[in-house]
Amino acid sequence: MIKEASFFDQKSSLTDTSSLRAKRLFSLADHQKHHKRNQGGRPIKELIEKLERNHGLSKEEYIRLLSGLDGEARTLLAEKATVLRKRHYGNDIYIRGLIEFTSFCKNDCLYCGLRASNKNAQRYRLSKEEILDCCQQGHELGFRTFVLQGGEDPHYTDEILVDITKTIKKDFPDCAITLSLGERSRESLAALREAGADRYLLRHETANKKHYELLHPKGMSFEKRMQQLWDMKELGYQIGCGFMVGSPGQSTECLADDLVFVQRLKPHMVGIGPFIPHKDTPFRAEPQGDLDLTLALLGIIRLILPQALIPSTTALGTIDPWGREKGVLAGANVVMPNLSPVGVRKKYMLYDNKICTGEEAAECKHCLHGRMQRIGCGIAVSRGDPAGYRLEEAALAD
Ligand code: SAH
Repeated sequence: MIKEASFFDQKSSLTDTSSLRAKRLFSLADHQKHHKRNQGGRPIKELIEKLERNHGLSKEEYIRLLSGLDGEARTLLAEKATVLRKRHYGNDIYIRGLIEFTSFCKNDCLYCGLRASNKNAQRYRLSKEEILDCCQQGHELGFRTFVLQGGEDPHYTDEILVDITKTIKKDFPDCAITLSLGERSRESLAALREAGADRYLLRHETANKKHYELLHPKGMSFEKRMQQLWDMKELGYQIGCGFMVGSPGQSTECLADDLVFVQRLKPHMVGIGPFIPHKDTPFRAEPQGDLDLTLALLGIIRLILPQALIPSTTALGTIDPWGREKGVLAGANVVMPNLSPVGVRKKYMLYDNKICTGEEAAECKHCLHGRMQRIGCGIAVSRGDPAGYRLEEAALAD
């Protein structure tokens, strides 16, 4: 078995054998930076301990924490996050079967490969039968949550989606349905909840209005997206928000806004992953998000919400061959293998070089199973509700 610590000793590539000296230099530089930054201020360690105690900090404190992150602080965050993950979930890692059912999108988010104005994007839609086939295959493989994700595609009316949702719930009554369909009206969200959808993921993308407007075209509204998260909560969904790390224009202040927002919203799930450029978007030449910063943020989020479901994302696995393992060791407790038919996977290109586009669902699950085992974790066959979540209470909210 690979020791947990050995993952943390690595910089971005485990295959880079020449990195030992560089690593030492790196830690030294880090240490010096750390020393300078903390002169006069409260040491970073104390801030991390305060976060652990109170499950929250002020915006200014988050800025200080994020600006003072060094190797030592990142290790401390990962250790504390792992203690909390294990306290609530043991060594269980939950799996979600991701079904990317449409690559059509009416939106034009500047970072996303599915944006409407990307004329090179290959578009597809899955029929109800194809979606049910994915669920069938997934169920046989031990999946008890299906995540239906897609671009914002007006083809899928409420009527169509209500029918799909009801049929999945009827055919697979022991499974949870997570929707990730972007922005929909409150009526539509209510109808889908009524039809049996249990969860809804809507990354807020950034909690800073100016930054939101830099990432999205005119006509998309920051307030609307944020409001939908509160609405979904009110409608009785288990909700998920999230953001990209290192998206263009993202400052430390933006990240602090994100953390304060997560702390206020208290979602059941938080999905974060590095921004990765897509060649056919206006952000094609922007740098990708940083691995270590993403890992540190996973840990911080675990300290804010000890019981949250936090995926170690495909984007993390795309920027680093051991990204998903590192994500779990930093505080995440969910992985989302792909259940989409292999024939369409390369067409759901949110960003360049996306991994897991070539293998069958069974191979994907098998691969992740091995990856989790090697770091001492096990994949659980269960709906994977948040720790302490009572299904009876959820039913009462219906
Ligand atoms: N249409 C849905 C699903 C979007 S895709 C919605 O709007 O919620 C799911 C997530 O992928 C997005 O929320 C975004 O955070 C992430 N994503 C999109 N483009 C990306 C990129 N270039 N790099 C990394 N993540 C990206």
